Amino acid sequence: MEHRVALIPGDGIGPEITRAMRAVVDATGVGISWQEVHVGAAVMEREGTPLPERALEAIRAVGVAIKGPVTTPVGTGFRSVNVALRHAFDLYACVRPCRSLPGDGSRYTDVDLVIFRENTEDLYAGIEFAPGSPEVAAIDELVRAAGMRGIRPGSALSLKPISEPASRAIVTAAFDYARANGRRKVTAVHKANIMKETDGLFLRMAREVASAYPDIAFEDKIVDAACMGLVQNPADFDVLVLPNLYGDIVSDLCAGLVGGLGLAPGANIGRDCAIFEATHGSAPDIAGRDIANPTAEFLSAAMMLDYLDEHAAAERMRRAVSATLAEGTAVTADIRRALTGSTEGAVGTRAYTEAV
Ligand code: NAD
Repeated sequence: MEHRVALIPGDGIGPEITRAMRAVVDATGVGISWQEVHVGAAVMEREGTPLPERALEAIRAVGVAIKGPVTTPVGTGFRSVNVALRHAFDLYACVRPCRSLPGDGSRYTDVDLVIFRENTEDLYAGIEFAPGSPEVAAIDELVRAAGMRGIRPGSALSLKPISEPASRAIVTAAFDYARANGRRKVTAVHKANIMKETDGLFLRMAREVASAYPDIAFEDKIVDAACMGLVQNPADFDVLVLPNLYGDIVSDLCAGLVGGLGLAPGANIGRDCAIFEATHGSAPDIAGRDIANPTAEFLSAAMMLDYLDEHAAAERMRRAVSATLAEGTAVTADIRRALTGSTEGAVGTRAYTEAV
């Protein structure tokens, strides 16, 4: 059976690593009809929007996409295409496994964590107001009327909506995954001691959902303590579930436990659509130089093959990556540097892809 998959090359190193990913997926023999879809900075220049309706329709038509990273201008410019895609298809669960691989160059050897990051709300909702705007003045008035200290003049403001349905949905996804994959524990990560309403609600939903899964252990941890614990002893953790912003930060931290951003895959899952992508960004500092590590994109593709019920091909892809890294003779510069402190002896994206 042939699967239809939307392939989004993205910006920066995106085109290089998605080209490499496609070659490896095709080498598994799984029949995929790739439909290229363009979004991001280059499309913005040509069409005045980084995410044309045509692109959304093409992804909607196939329901499964794999993408390269897309550049988001910092501070000014267009809003994140990634965030817009997550909203457009209600991709509420961002799943990021972080597993040690032999020869990954990390300080740790047997990390095995899975992160469930809520993907649609929190400070990523994009509800922001500029200093001096009428909205900030109106909110200041409401805040004072509620008997709280007002907003300091000259402040910008971001709102952090955390809802019961979205919190319940992500925690349920984490517990369902834990049960289906024989995992022992789910840890909810929050800052409910300070944000009693928003993070307090997330924690309440986590506790409520946990009570329906007596076979899986549950604990909660405050985000700062969780970060320290992860670095000190990652084996204390198993499946983690977090609101959007903490999920973003903690998944990069966890990528650092398993050899860095070049190795950390991810999936954005909704009810009728899934978009797979590496955790890392478009790495403009190394774009177009045949030095990017495509492994995170390969492992994201393996997650996609699992989603398409092509489990044998997914497993072969993971084994091929593992074997190539374990051998250690054809690895990219980031891995070489982690292993030896120097990039000498590293190979390029294309040669590594050939080896895999
Ligand atoms: P980044 O992840 O692109 O890069 C951080 C560092 O890691 C850089 O030094 C980079 O060279 C290195 N790196 C990243 N991926 C690598 C790989 N595969 N192989 C080797 N080295 C790699 O983060 P950034 O610089 O903060 O962001 C760059 C752009 O990417 C920004 O515009 C940001 O908004 C965007 N971004 C996109 C996504 C996405 O599309 N999902 C995610 C994160 C960031």
